[in-house]
Amino acid sequence: MSLNNIAIIGLGLLGGSLGLAIKEHLPAAKTVGFDRDTDVRRRAAEIGLVGTVMETASEAVADADLVILCVPVGAMAAAATELAGSLKPSAIVSDVGSSKASVGKALAEALPSATVIPAHPVAGTERSGPDAGFASLFDGRWCILTPSDGTDETAVAELRTFWETLGSTVEIMDAEHHDLVLAVTSHIPHLIAYTIVGTASDLEDVTQGEVIKYSAGGFRDFTRIAASDPTMWRDVFLSNREAVLEVLGRFSEDLTVLQRAIRSGDGDTLFDLFTRTRDIRRSIIDMGQDDAAPDFGREH
Ligand code: NAP
Repeated sequence: MSLNNIAIIGLGLLGGSLGLAIKEHLPAAKTVGFDRDTDVRRRAAEIGLVGTVMETASEAVADADLVILCVPVGAMAAAATELAGSLKPSAIVSDVGSSKASVGKALAEALPSATVIPAHPVAGTERSGPDAGFASLFDGRWCILTPSDGTDETAVAELRTFWETLGSTVEIMDAEHHDLVLAVTSHIPHLIAYTIVGTASDLEDVTQGEVIKYSAGGFRDFTRIAASDPTMWRDVFLSNREAVLEVLGRFSEDLTVLQRAIRSGDGDTLFDLFTRTRDIRRSIIDMGQDDAAPDFGREH
């Protein structure tokens, strides 16, 4: 593994987990971290998320073979600009942002002479901040790399090996395609969760107490997703606008079909859809991406 010095910018859930995962799987690698928040820097040093926490981004990246930006997608351009003059010429710059086309563009513009390889580990939780990190976050999860045409293939191979060493399975994808796939599998589900939880709390004939008391009827699982970090998710929707609006259009049409089926007493349409969706759930469990235990197997 030639990426011996690794700098992590942003020491929240993703950055912290990355530091801990490197410590576990690549114990010989030297990790250096930076976060713009003083309290986060202090806490990251206290709990040892990285080997050394630096006071500036420039210091953090000065010796790095690999720099990974773990900040909200709306902050990627500013974070990259901050370290632009301090990178080693051979450094690979990557990120973990949830949308890829706009982040890739922002990084390429801020760092025109660097080797930029955008990445998205499809792994996370609804928690954020340095205390939310854990070493096994990337274990058995996908990590999607979206290098642009002409990116140095050796660097892409090195980044692939890095993520595989942390336990991830790597896929290479076009950034626009990534954004469409993730709009379907992650971004729209979050939007629906935010909407339904908002709708429930705005209802006048059902009290907030009743919503909380009877939440096990399905609402509770939406609240877990709707508790996700507001900054991160605001940025995801603004940065993946095109794909989100495209999938949202399709979703609205399908919702109208169900609305019509319910109004006209068309049980077959409902039954057929619910049978198809149950098969999708089974396929996810078969692929090891979740388990069948009650409440999605999450610990309480
Ligand atoms: P997080 O826990 O909120 O951590 C982000 C950290 O970055 C915060 O401490 C933030 O400080 C800091 N930061 C913001 N701008 C910065 C800058 N310019 N320089 C240095 N530090 C800066 O967020 P996260 O969940 O780790 O998410 C990080 C990235 O991972 C996002 O791009 C997200 O899309 C992606 N991602 C998240 C998940 C998930 O489930 N959470 C999954 C996959 C990918 P402030 O609080 O002061 O802003």
